[in-house]
Amino acid sequence: MSAKREREECSMNTNCLEGIRCPECGQEDEFRIEGRTVFEVTDNGTGDHGDVEWDEDSYALCPSCEFEGKLGHFQIE
Ligand SMILES: [Zn+2]
Repeated sequence: MSAKREREECSMNTNCLEGIRCPECGQEDEFRIEGRTVFEVTDNGTGDHGDVEWDEDSYALCPSCEFEGKLGHFQIE
């Protein structure tokens, strides 16, 4: 182990999870987030879907510590 990260106040995420971090355990690698999208649906079932959207009122869960709440609670101030 070397080069321990010192920038704990800065999120490492720069894309989908930018600004998102668990307020309980601090991890920011993976979350369960409720999203909205539009599926192509036929009589045979669901097919492709478009972009998935979520906002600060979406349900979110941290798989690491199981903290759950609205996504807004996970946003780094
Ligand atoms: Zn957590």
